[in-house]
Amino acid sequence: MPLASVALAALLALAGLMRPQSCAWAQPALPAMPAPGAQDRVLVIAPHPDDESLCCAGILQRARSNGAATAVVWITAGDGFALDAMLVEHSPWPTQADLRLLGAQRLTEAAAAAIELGVPRAQQYFLGYPDRGVTALMSDYYQRSYRSGSTGLTAVPYPQALSPSAGFTGSNLERDLARVIDQFAPTLVLAAAPQDRHPDHNASGALARRLLARRGQLDRLRYWIVHAAHWPDPRRYRPEMSLLPPAEANTLQWQSLALTGAERAHKLAALRQHRSQIKVMESFLLSFVRANELFALPAD
Ligand SMILES: [Zn+2]
Repeated sequence: MPLASVALAALLALAGLMRPQSCAWAQPALPAMPAPGAQDRVLVIAPHPDDESLCCAGILQRARSNGAATAVVWITAGDGFALDAMLVEHSPWPTQADLRLLGAQRLTEAAAAAIELGVPRAQQYFLGYPDRGVTALMSDYYQRSYRSGSTGLTAVPYPQALSPSAGFTGSNLERDLARVIDQFAPTLVLAAAPQDRHPDHNASGALARRLLARRGQLDRLRYWIVHAAHWPDPRRYRPEMSLLPPAEANTLQWQSLALTGAERAHKLAALRQHRSQIKVMESFLLSFVRANELFALPAD
């Protein structure tokens, strides 16, 4: 190969290597997500404790500082994460009792994170349905009782839940989430996108969509995403970098909310309240502390 061609090939290879890095550093060329105003009421639907901070710590703070009301509803207590229970409860073979303890701890952590983000106790709603059970509840177990493979339970065990002792059925979960929506009357609902890979996430997003559609309020829904392949990239703490939409959800119309340095700092502090999760997957959690947060319009 002539020298000039070698030099050209090397230049092109270098440009190819540099492209992903320069994209990741750039602010995404996305429309701005309008910040909630004083008249707004923002509800985050979190499938598990930690999702509220991962997806929405920045927008919750912005809403609060602009005078909006904010609330979070947690669908499950995150009581199905065996690896987590092993580390947190120091048990090599976590029992059902260990996982119930983990669930109680994760609800406490979620409450502390929400306080960090300015969400008052009265607007923190815990439903307590089974981790990794939301898809089953919304299909085969809509009417009949579901037993959690993790905790062995068939009803909501947490005393601070909206409906303590409610049986694990899809209809009870739907009734509780509908009650939160009707009680809080949100003008903006932030829920998991259909493209989110975690089954509890996409199932709870679908339920949110159905409840809002039934009320003629689909225009109040915006999606977020937490679980996607090789995403966020890189999976480590890089607060100066922008979050770009994951490839598998690039058909959605994304909007970007740029965060201030103070909002990023509080997002980091909120995530650190989830001590049980930080122990297991700190790099993944902190990779959501970025220069922006992403929200998408629901497709028709
Ligand atoms: Zn989750």
